[in-house]
Amino acid sequence: MTSATAEVSRGSRVVTLRVAEVIEETADARSLVFDVPADAADRFAYRPGQFLTLRIPSDRSAPVARCYSLASSPLTGEPPRVTIKRTADGYGSNWLCDNISAGDTIDVLPPLGTFTPASLDTDLLLWAGGSGITPVMSILRSALAGGTGRVVLFYANRGADSVIFADALRELAEQYPERLQVTHWLESLQGLPSTARLAAFAAPYASFESFVCGPAPFMAAVTEALAGAGWPRERVTTEVFVSLTGDPFAEPEPLDPAEDADAAEVEVELDGEVHALRWPRSRTLVDVMLSDGLDVPYSCREGECGSCACTVLDGEVAMDSTGVLDQDDIDAGYTLACQARPRTDSVRIRF
Ligand SMILES: Cc1cc2nc3c(=O)[nH]c(=O)nc-3n(C[C@H](O)[C@H](O)[C@H](O)COP(=O)(O)OP(=O)(O)OC[C@H]3O[C@@H](n4cnc5c(N)ncnc54)[C@H](O)[C@@H]3O)c2cc1C
Repeated sequence: MTSATAEVSRGSRVVTLRVAEVIEETADARSLVFDVPADAADRFAYRPGQFLTLRIPSDRSAPVARCYSLASSPLTGEPPRVTIKRTADGYGSNWLCDNISAGDTIDVLPPLGTFTPASLDTDLLLWAGGSGITPVMSILRSALAGGTGRVVLFYANRGADSVIFADALRELAEQYPERLQVTHWLESLQGLPSTARLAAFAAPYASFESFVCGPAPFMAAVTEALAGAGWPRERVTTEVFVSLTGDPFAEPEPLDPAEDADAAEVEVELDGEVHALRWPRSRTLVDVMLSDGLDVPYSCREGECGSCACTVLDGEVAMDSTGVLDQDDIDAGYTLACQARPRTDSVRIRF
């Protein structure tokens, strides 16, 4: 919470947004509805399921950065809204829930993320646990408003009073009886959903696209159930909620010309355009693209958020850390640009 304006502030990516409204969703979850000024509207265009990164001040340390998924839909005309659930002993979520009121401002990085359907016309099988409903709700609202397919939601919570968006889901189910089916699973009544139970739930929807977000054990149970039932991996997309440790608000360090002596050649395809760059081996691909003024998608620069995932088409790169990528992602050719350094003299990459 800093500057008094709602205009673009420090650096080219950081925007200071005014909070138009704070909504109490449940006892431990709040939504922040943002007022996006007209001159930042383009930069805040988003796809269903993407997230914002918020800068949260701290008296004890430098500010911290936390990602929060947009629960709103870009297709319904509603203002962008994130929903924050308090994490026990967590710093950022509790600070936001305790300190932000309507009219306050906060520094935000524009939307990012790959937890988004390629088409809203496909049939969707959505899985949410607890606060994992946030990006799932954006996808669900968007598919109903702008798509033509069926939407099935499996939504797990501890108890009835922790169900975020319960009323909105009920209303949508009434509005779209032919297209939306919502199944609530309450741990307090039914225990944890077993892999077998989840596989049985998924069985009638074998041709659907799955999106999964929630606590780690829930996500593990769902992905295991789908894998066991033979779902192809490319039809299962996951979003992992972690706290960033790096500072995505920091300005990138400029390249030193001396670093060019040991550089590879890289061709990068971004938004349909191909850019030829020199890639010093001491730098990551995100560093190199930023220093060339390219609008590379990235947030944490620690391998934790997955925003900079790209595909190596030719040549080889090495990653400092494989971060959020699992072995299946790596086998499928995915690389994190914020962790990648060139191994061969020429490399071709596509975002
Ligand atoms: C892409 C993405 C989207 C997300 N979307 C949402 C969303 O829509 N809604 C939402 O609520 N969250 C979301 N998150 C999660 C969110 O970014 C935060 O991770 C979450 O709010 C917890 O942050 P915190 O600062 O409150 O907790 P932290 O302070 O990061 O603490 C998290 C946990 O770690 C423990 N911990 C903290 N410090 C230490 C330490 N030094 N040693 C050991 N343990 C420690 C705490 O006890 C706590 O249990 C998202 C994350 C990502 C990456």
